[in-house]
Amino acid sequence: MSTETTQAANFLRTIVQEDLKSGKHETIVTRFPPEPNGYLHIGHAKSICLNFGLAKEFGGRCHLRFDDTNPVKEDTEYIESIKESVRWLGFSWGSHLYYASEYFEQLYQWAEYLIQQGKAYVDDLTADEIRAYRGTLTEPGKESPWRNRSVEENLDLFRRMRAGEFPDGAKVLRAKIDMASPNMNFRDPVMYRILHATHPHVGDAWRIYPMYDYAHGQSDAIEGITHSICTLEFEGHRPLYEWFLDNLPVPHRPRQYEFARLNLTYAVMSKRKLLQLVKDGDVSGWDDPRMPTIMGIRRRGYTPEAVRSFCETIGVGRSDSWIDMSILEESVRQDLNERAPRVMAVLKPLRLIIENYQDGEAEELTIPYHPQKPELGSRTVPFCGELFIERDDFAEIPPKGFKRMSPGEEIRLRGAYILKCTGVEKDADGTVTAVRCTYDPETRSGLPGSDRKVKGVIHWVSARHALTAEVRLYDRLFTDPNPSGDDWKELLNPASVEILADCRLEPSLAAARAEDRFQFERQGYFCADLKDSTEGTPVFNRTVTLRDSWTKK
Ligand code: ATP
Ligand code: MG
Repeated sequence: MSTETTQAANFLRTIVQEDLKSGKHETIVTRFPPEPNGYLHIGHAKSICLNFGLAKEFGGRCHLRFDDTNPVKEDTEYIESIKESVRWLGFSWGSHLYYASEYFEQLYQWAEYLIQQGKAYVDDLTADEIRAYRGTLTEPGKESPWRNRSVEENLDLFRRMRAGEFPDGAKVLRAKIDMASPNMNFRDPVMYRILHATHPHVGDAWRIYPMYDYAHGQSDAIEGITHSICTLEFEGHRPLYEWFLDNLPVPHRPRQYEFARLNLTYAVMSKRKLLQLVKDGDVSGWDDPRMPTIMGIRRRGYTPEAVRSFCETIGVGRSDSWIDMSILEESVRQDLNERAPRVMAVLKPLRLIIENYQDGEAEELTIPYHPQKPELGSRTVPFCGELFIERDDFAEIPPKGFKRMSPGEEIRLRGAYILKCTGVEKDADGTVTAVRCTYDPETRSGLPGSDRKVKGVIHWVSARHALTAEVRLYDRLFTDPNPSGDDWKELLNPASVEILADCRLEPSLAAARAEDRFQFERQGYFCADLKDSTEGTPVFNRTVTLRDSWTKK
């Protein structure tokens, strides 16, 4: 059964259902408003699944809106990666791609409107002074000496701000609300600041830029958004969001709703921290398979279905909580268990010689791709007298309970024959360099009477036919469930990647294309790397192990 059909609690789904039923809205319009100052992460995926998901489920639409009001940190590389991430997750904005910067003229006109109404003023205080005048949660703020400028003077100064007459920081435009309000957001919030910066989307057209609190709600109003969904830290901003809507001649009245953001253990999700990991070279880039970015987990081998199912599983509520990384990992395990073909790959090879197998001979064994899903078909796997097995699958002196290969014991090779170990070859240091065996030709898998009871089954590849490939064993990026505080980088997991350059894979894998996903039998799920695989020579990333090895620790 697909987990995508199980719905966890989502209070916003209920609100939307009621709004449609009562006729408050005929159709719903949501938006996903990323700031193009980094790559999207798994937290954003929660918001994307919520906004695009509700629109899809109720026949409405969801806009992708770049909240590009800060030209300094923004970049077109981020815009492209954000679009790709949303598409990859399986959502579409259709023709509804917008940029807050496209509303700058309208926002400017509305700012003049507020000035004319006596509800906004130009302030000459410095940023530090504004902060000091703002007061605290227990003390009211103090009014700026510039608060009572005339409408004419304010208009003149604001127009000159726009024209670029003043340097950065010389003046701001503020809403004139209430310096004594218990809600700090009401203490004359800044609406515009001066920034002599080139904007990635509108170039040098503007010397003043609107603040988030002013731009956001008005952008929602321009686009006809019905449900403007954001994370809980904006709850206290909602009265201000409404104040602007109440005081401006907006064409439409959106409503803001807040939900709890996703916090994930063993990960950092602030874009500032993710950028620092990239800049400091702790990872290979925003799309490093260890990053919690959508492009990172995609390269790691996650499927969009797994991410969507994860977001559905965790639900949408209003209290902040932490989700354990193992829940995300389990979502991809479940999805890949259903559909990943099983193949054999020897990651740390040890040579095995079958003494009674005819020299130079080989045969082709047909092995199904999935034990429970015959519809996935099968492949042929060459078998001969010289194989590779996993070094860990052999022990000269087996520890108690060892179910793999050791001298004198019989084991089965997956999909092939039963072998008996007859001895080993060693180098001068005493390291085992090869295992010697005999095989029983009567025990080929599928032959009648071939299922003689043996201790274990191990995977293998033919030494003569195997594909040599690089496999990367990824693990969690942090060793601590909550990598916070000033020393958060000290909690990086030193073993978050192990690169194995000399793995031997069954030859069918030479045909693997970037992003093809497999279960390497007994090892985990693996995905051909999107960037580093070349035709005939895939590089594999471990997506996740077969079982959770962290929660037991
Ligand atoms: P940061 O503060 O790290 O820069 P952000 O939240 O400001 O990140 P935005 O680009 O503004 O990033 O986010 C776009 C949308 O994604 C917002 O609506 C925001 O509420 C939502 N979002 C961001 N992080 C999470 C999260 N961890 N869980 C759920 N939604 C999130
Ligand atoms: Mg933000």
